[in-house]
Amino acid sequence: MGGFKTTLITCQQCGRRIMVRAADVERGFITCSHTGCGAVNVLETTGYYDEGFLHDLDSLGQLTYQGDSIRTYSLQFGSNVIGIASSCTVQVERSVHNGRCFISRRHCTLTVTFDKWTGLLRYQLQDGAVDPATQVMHHSKNGIQLNGVTLAKAELIDVPDGGIITLGGLDQFRLNHVSISPDALITHKVETVFNPDQTQ
Ligand SMILES: [Zn+2]
Repeated sequence: MGGFKTTLITCQQCGRRIMVRAADVERGFITCSHTGCGAVNVLETTGYYDEGFLHDLDSLGQLTYQGDSIRTYSLQFGSNVIGIASSCTVQVERSVHNGRCFISRRHCTLTVTFDKWTGLLRYQLQDGAVDPATQVMHHSKNGIQLNGVTLAKAELIDVPDGGIITLGGLDQFRLNHVSISPDALITHKVETVFNPDQTQ
């Protein structure tokens, strides 16, 4: 477990501050050092992952077009608007079928978030995109599907690694989550200590 720094807790018996070091946390308790107290304070830890390192990654996963030519598009942290307009985070190429393109200008939104408690990334998809000028949600003209199932207009759905997103019924993209090894993740864990209301 990485990241624990010296911290102060409040003694549950005398109310004065006690300095806690990593060794105390490992032991699971600390004896109050203040004169006349000497209470044994139970220590518990909680931890979370600092998401800062995600902002330094070049890509937070990618979409690969499942067509004749292999085209890949990188995703960024937060909201990714996908469509053929230049205002999109992920501007995909126009794809013409019998003279028509079925992908809307701003077709759908794929939002990448990080759960700091579990260290897991989440990829959530919804039909349409918010207009940056009016903040109003506009849905796509021809809809989206995840693994062949059509999404309702207001639906927000988790996309698994390898999930196939279909835009407008014809153009398919495979999502690959970014892969972060447990060893790399643990270096971003921040441990905090607290003393529950309990002395021995
Ligand atoms: Zn004390």
